[in-house]
Amino acid sequence: MSASKTCSHLDQIQVTELPEQIDGCEECLKIGSRWVHLRMCMTCGKIGCCDSSPNRHATAHERETSHPIILSAERGEGWSWCYPDELFFMLSPQ
Ligand SMILES: [Zn+2]
Ligand SMILES: [Zn+2]
Ligand SMILES: [Zn+2]
Repeated sequence: MSASKTCSHLDQIQVTELPEQIDGCEECLKIGSRWVHLRMCMTCGKIGCCDSSPNRHATAHERETSHPIILSAERGEGWSWCYPDELFFMLSPQ
């Protein structure tokens, strides 16, 4: 991971840990749809689906709320993505 560019939205991160149990994309569960991969909003903790999923709820959530950063909710991945900066990064453990 390159550190040449840094995200300027780190102060909006409120949630850094994935929930113990993730049932799936909250919006897909409501409408009975399917998802491919899951992402968690790092501002409010909402679970949404990735851009490979038919409904792209993680991106839809960012558009609606302007919550800028998602964390991969796939166990063991640990990367984050900032929408406004279009930047992948890993939060180093404190
Ligand atoms: Zn950012
Ligand atoms: Zn979804
Ligand atoms: Zn959010």
